[in-house]
Amino acid sequence: MFFDVVVIGAGPGGYVAAIRAAQNGAKVALVEAGDLGGTCLNVGCIPTKTLISSAEVYSTIKRSEQWGVKVGQVEVDFAAMAQRKNKVISSIRGSLEGLLRANKIEIIKGFGKVVAPGQVKVLGEKASLLETKGIILATGSKPRNIGAFPFDPPLIHSSTSILELSKLPKSLVVVGGGVIGCEAACLYAELGVKVTILELLPTLLSTEPPQTAQFLTKTFEKRGIIVRTKVNVDRIDKQKKGVLVHLVGGEQIEAEMALVAIGREINTENIGLEALGIATTKGGFIAVNERMETAIAGIWAIGDITGKALLAHVASHQGLVAADNATGKAAKMDYRAIPSVVYTHPEAASVGMTLEQAKAAGYQAEQGQFPFEWLGRSIAAGHPEGYASVVIDKRTGAVLGASAVCHDAGTLIAQMTQAIANELTGACIEHTIHPHPTTSEAWLEATLLAAGHPLHLPPRSAK
Ligand code: FAD
Ligand code: NAD
Repeated sequence: MFFDVVVIGAGPGGYVAAIRAAQNGAKVALVEAGDLGGTCLNVGCIPTKTLISSAEVYSTIKRSEQWGVKVGQVEVDFAAMAQRKNKVISSIRGSLEGLLRANKIEIIKGFGKVVAPGQVKVLGEKASLLETKGIILATGSKPRNIGAFPFDPPLIHSSTSILELSKLPKSLVVVGGGVIGCEAACLYAELGVKVTILELLPTLLSTEPPQTAQFLTKTFEKRGIIVRTKVNVDRIDKQKKGVLVHLVGGEQIEAEMALVAIGREINTENIGLEALGIATTKGGFIAVNERMETAIAGIWAIGDITGKALLAHVASHQGLVAADNATGKAAKMDYRAIPSVVYTHPEAASVGMTLEQAKAAGYQAEQGQFPFEWLGRSIAAGHPEGYASVVIDKRTGAVLGASAVCHDAGTLIAQMTQAIANELTGACIEHTIHPHPTTSEAWLEATLLAAGHPLHLPPRSAK
């Protein structure tokens, strides 16, 4: 079979690349060994956010008297929540398959292996050899499993196996206080599970602005989550009814289950890269240039395997760039405005540089930080917690970075992502009429604050 482009892996990187290549007029094959949608749809973004939305409904109803609404007894039916999550996944997967077919993309089930530039062997029920002008590798990643405390469900879970639960444990130890660990800790604690987070580094969420980690750590502790940082897990023993986590130094922690979320490993074994001699980076990721080209002509790589940022929206954007280049259009990646969102309660989002990073890079940076307790809509909606901050370059006025910890911060950060991606200045934000009453007004206030003249905060000297 001959194609213009063969994409290996149908996650948010691969399937987006396939659609763009087909839109550009190419004859495209999409090879997938598992389920369409990859990690993101099947065991990542979508299932976790579906469960998080159930927990949010539960938490809001529990506190409903705050809004003047009385309800009877509220209960968690976790089996029903899990069922809803499965339905959401299969519904989106069905739509995705329809979308790919509508774009005339040939979906080929099986494990793709590059046997030579321009040749992909598919190992599956029916082995086949695909001849192609271009290959886009998008094979993604899986949970990092380490020898000291390997995954062993139903007691020691990975982020994948924990999604199969239909009954909640009474207690859970989360090893790793990164994005997966914090989102899971918050979700299960909200549903009544006693959660302990064990993090090796001095703070949770070390990839987010330091203030985010401080704010969320305090919030978690107020909700009863035990946060332990600078702790090293030696091993996890399985017991008759749960796990015993041994810390280096001798301390032991008991729980009904453990979740190990200490990063990801990329799926590059047996896909033919060794024989091709493809270059990798220091961390073992596939080396690519800004056009997503590997060192071998005619082979592009996108998504988690490139290690640029292990995020679905980055994989998709890289997919667009690779597909354009593979079909004769020139495109480049620009990583200056990559939004990152942590779906805790409240959410945390950031884009661009922190104040410290901007100063270290030589900017005369100024930060304005506006608390939501001063914003009409946040007070009215019953979500006054958190802040929005903006980092501005005093010399040029350019918006360098932004972050927010608040209700729906993920949606809010899109405005500042657009500002940074399009090199807008603080003056552009000030001249924009923001709708009232909305939380988006916090960006206007934070920008005014950076310039020294906020509207809805008392002047600094009067505080
Ligand atoms: P993947 O989504 O991993 O897809 C790769 C696909 O390739 C898979 O379907 C796999 O079966 C297939 N494959 C692998 N090898 C082969 C082969 N040889 N032949 C054929 N097929 C193959 N990111 C966000 O932006 N927002 C979030 O909220 C978010 N939440 C997450 C929550 C969890 C619990 C996890 C684990 C991740 C989350 N992520 C989130 C990260 C996001 O899921 C990944 O960054 C994204 O899925 C990477 O996309 P990808 O296309 O590179 O790879
Ligand atoms: P991570 O890199 O975010 O966090 C792993 C954490 O585990 C780190 O804080 C690390 O210090 C800690 N750790 C490592 N070894 C440890 C040990 N032995 N004991 C205790 N702690 C240890 O990785 P993750 O949380 O597994 O998430 C993987 C990737 O998935 C992330 O890169 C993230 O981008 C992506 N993801 C994104 C979202 C989102 O965008 N909302 C959600 C989930 C996952």
